[in-house]
Amino acid sequence: MKDVGEEKGGEKEGGPDKSRRVNLGGIVPLSTVDWTGVAATVVFLRGCPLKCPHCQNWHLRSGESFEDLSVVEEKTRSASPFVSCVVLSGGEPLAQPRAAQNIARLAKELGLKVGIETCGFYPDVLRDLLEADLVDQVFLDVKAPLTDPEYARATGRPGAAPRVEECLKTCLALEVPLEVRTTVFPEMPSAEEVGTIGELLRNLDIHKLTIQQGRPREGEETFHPVPAKELKDLAEAVKKLVGIEAEYRARGDDGG
Ligand code: SF4
Repeated sequence: MKDVGEEKGGEKEGGPDKSRRVNLGGIVPLSTVDWTGVAATVVFLRGCPLKCPHCQNWHLRSGESFEDLSVVEEKTRSASPFVSCVVLSGGEPLAQPRAAQNIARLAKELGLKVGIETCGFYPDVLRDLLEADLVDQVFLDVKAPLTDPEYARATGRPGAAPRVEECLKTCLALEVPLEVRTTVFPEMPSAEEVGTIGELLRNLDIHKLTIQQGRPREGEETFHPVPAKELKDLAEAVKKLVGIEAEYRARGDDGG
């Protein structure tokens, strides 16, 4: 199996056995929301190169809380009778290539599938993991049309869009199951921009988009989420006008 180079994601590690260190943000032993319909253990890796303005996991974007891989192993092993997969999330899990590879391998050894939730900033790391047959499902955020300044506005960093496009193409080329997710906030992306994302997917031969309801951070009611009805209408419009499947996910109609 091909080894994933740790330098690609700017991984920063400490401790005596660096190859086993994980900058760990937390572990949720049982989740049913990250991989819809599938019971998963979710491992959150710390660190992210982006600065999305409404980031829910902002506390995981930076900082250090290194653990040995055995901590992840113990918790994943205990949860394994109750789940069928491990989802790597963050932060951006591919910012720690070696840790991502180690955890994916561990999951495989336990007979579990592996899902990756990624912002698409590290196409080379993703490719290496896919080529090593360590990933069963990719959940890729496409936050705006893949052009700057739109993408830079959505992510707080210019230059990410071509990397995301490369991730999309890599998933297609290597035929790994892919869920593309766009999270809609009141001010962005606009309905027109969601349509543009849909067109891009269709042109790449990707035929489904999941539209998610963006919500304020817990305890910070800084905006009303886009109501579920509007997201439903948006999904219908994408289906009708762009000609791809679109579904929406919302916690309920917030009536905003
Ligand atoms: S990519 Fe995800 S973790 Fe990183 S800043 Fe954006 S929302 Fe937060």
